[in-house]
Amino acid sequence: MLTSSAARLLAIVVLFLTWGVATRTARAGEAQDPGYALLASPSRASVPPWALPGRMRFARCDGGPVEVCKAFMSGWEAIRHPDAILPCATFYDDATIAMLRRARINWIWVTWSVGFSHETEAVQRRLLTPFIAKCHAAGIRITAYVSLTNMFIDDMVQHEPRAAKWMQVEADGTPRPYSAAKYDGKPTRIIACVNNPEWLEYSKQRIASAVAAGVDAIQYDNSMQGCKCQFCREKFTEFTRSLYGQPFAVPGARTQDTSHFTQGRESVASAETPGLVAKAWAAFCVKSGADALAQHRAYADSLKPGILVNANAHQQSRMDDGLNSIFSEDGTEPGLRGAELASNIGLYKFFYAEGDGAKPIHIECGRRINGDRMDNPMPPRNQKLVVYESAACQASQGSFFEMGWTTKLARGDQNALDSLAALTAANQWVADHESLFAKVEPVAKTAVVLPAWQSVTPFVGTGRNFVLLHPKHLTPRQLAQFPLVVLLDVRCMTDEQAEAVRGYVAQGGRLIATGDTSSCDGAWRPRAKPALASLQGTDRCAWLPGKPAPEDLLAAWRRFDDKPLVELASAPEHLCFNVARSWDGKRTLVYLLNYGPQPVAGCDVKLRLPKTFRSARLHTPGAATTALAATAQADGVSVKIPAFDIFAVLEIQ
Ligand SMILES: [Zn+2]
Repeated sequence: MLTSSAARLLAIVVLFLTWGVATRTARAGEAQDPGYALLASPSRASVPPWALPGRMRFARCDGGPVEVCKAFMSGWEAIRHPDAILPCATFYDDATIAMLRRARINWIWVTWSVGFSHETEAVQRRLLTPFIAKCHAAGIRITAYVSLTNMFIDDMVQHEPRAAKWMQVEADGTPRPYSAAKYDGKPTRIIACVNNPEWLEYSKQRIASAVAAGVDAIQYDNSMQGCKCQFCREKFTEFTRSLYGQPFAVPGARTQDTSHFTQGRESVASAETPGLVAKAWAAFCVKSGADALAQHRAYADSLKPGILVNANAHQQSRMDDGLNSIFSEDGTEPGLRGAELASNIGLYKFFYAEGDGAKPIHIECGRRINGDRMDNPMPPRNQKLVVYESAACQASQGSFFEMGWTTKLARGDQNALDSLAALTAANQWVADHESLFAKVEPVAKTAVVLPAWQSVTPFVGTGRNFVLLHPKHLTPRQLAQFPLVVLLDVRCMTDEQAEAVRGYVAQGGRLIATGDTSSCDGAWRPRAKPALASLQGTDRCAWLPGKPAPEDLLAAWRRFDDKPLVELASAPEHLCFNVARSWDGKRTLVYLLNYGPQPVAGCDVKLRLPKTFRSARLHTPGAATTALAATAQADGVSVKIPAFDIFAVLEIQ
C-alpha cells in the first residue's frame, strides 16, 4: 500500500511540475507580471496585530442605563417589556465576560455615549470603566460606541444651553430629528451639525474620557448630515467655488418631510438624485461628515497613537477615508431567502477595496432573513454561516447582543441558547484555524470597479471570482495586475483615470464597460462624449449600454475571462466561493460556502494557478484535515472535494 501511495504521489508531483511549465509558457503573451490583487496600502503594516483579519471575532454589546434610556426615548419596541430592562441595564457584568469568553469573542463595543449631556452620561462611564479593565484582563478588546450627531435635546440644553444652537436645521430653520419616539409632543432626538465648531469641540470630551478608560477603538454612529445652517451654507459656497469656479446656493428642497420631523429618520445622501446641484450637495454632506470624523480621529490619535476609529457610514465611501477601520451594519443574514441567495461576499469585497486592503473590517448582518435583529438571533445554521463567510472574506462579522438575544438568553430561551452554541462552535473553529484566514488577500484575474455600493451577489451566485476595486484605484500600476477589468457604470472619471484605462487596454488589457461609464468628469459634469469612447467597438473592449441584464454581462465576462484562476465544476446550487493568497505568496486558499439548507455532496474545484504547488488539503468543521489528490487537465488541475456541510477551505501549498 505504501509503495502504491508513494507512486501515486510521485505521479501527481510530476503532473504539477509539467502543468506549471505549460502555464508559464501560456502566460508569456499576457500583461507583464500581473499580481491578480489589489495593491495594498502601506498602512496595512500599522494595523495592530490583534485587529488583523482572521484574528478578530467581534460582537456589539449595547447595554447599561444609558442604553435603556436611549431605547425608551427612541420608541424601540424591544425594550417595552419588563423582562428586557435588567438584562440590558446590567449587561456589563462578570457573567457577560464569561459568556463572551466561552463564545470566543475577543472584541466588543460598549455603549459609551449616545447623545445625553456629558454630565448625564457619567453613570455609564462609572459602570464601564471597571468593566473595560476586566475585559482587557480576559483578553477582550474594547470599542467605545459614540454617536457623532445625536442629542437628546432636552437634557443637552438643560446642561449645555449652547446646544440649542448646534442643531442641524432645514432651510427654513426647522430642526432635523433622528428616528425617535415623541415625548411631550415633540421628537426626543435632534441631530447636531457636524460643521458647528462648538459641537465638534464639545464632542472631544467623549473621546478623551473613552481613551482615559482604556478603550482600543472608537465607533461612530449616526453620521448623517444634511444641515443648512449658516456654517453649512458658507462651507457649501466654498466647496462649490473650489470645484466649479462659482458658488452654488444650497438646494431648497427639504431633505426630511413633515412626517420625518415627527418621527425622524436616518437620512442618507443619495447618489441617485438628479442634477448637478443635488450631486454637489450630496457630496458636500458626505464630505462634512468625513471631515468631522477625520478631526475626531486625529484628536483620538493624539491621545492614543494608533487607536482604531470607524464609523457606520452606510457605504458612503468618502466617510471612511480619514478613518483607519471599517464598520457597517448593512450586512444581511446569509442563507436563502426563499429561492434567493443572501450573501455578503460582495459587500466584504467592496469594503476591502474601500479600505485599500489594509483597514480592519467588521460588518453587522442586521438585515435578517429570519425575524428581526432586535427580536431574535439568527437560527444556528445561518449563525455558523455568518461567521465562516466573514472569515472567508478577510473580515469579522459582528454579533448583535442588543435587546432580543440578551433578553432571551436571560430567560433561558432554547433558541437563543442554540444560536449562542452555534456562534461558539463557529468562532472556535475559526480561532483554531487562524492560519487559513490571517495575512491573506483576495485574488482573481478579473477586477470589477464599483463607483458606489451596489449588490454584486448575482455574480457571486453564478460562480465568478473577482476582486473589487474603487475608482480611486484606476491607475496604470493597479490596472496592470488584472487581465480583465469590468467598469460597472463608472460614470464619473477624471481625465487621469480615463487615460490610465486607455493605456491599460493599449498594453493588452481587456475591458468591459457598462452604462454611462466615463460620461462625466470627476465633478459630475457631463462630457460631450464618454472619455473612453475611443475604446468602443475595439477587439479588447465590450461596451454594454444602459443597465445590461446580468446574463449579458456574464456572457461578455466569460468570453474575456475564459480561464479564471479558480472555478467550480459540477458545483451544487447555492455553493459560493472566494479565493485568497497568503501575503507571502506561498499558499492559495479556496473558501467554499454552502448557503443551502442541506450539506453538499461535494464538487470539483478547477485551478489554474500561475505557480506549481506541492499539496492540496481540505479543512472543514467537524472533520479532520485531509490531503486531496489533484488530477491534471488540459489547462489546469482539478481537485475533487468530498461532501461537507456548511464550510470547507481548500488549502493549496
Ligand atoms: Zn449646519
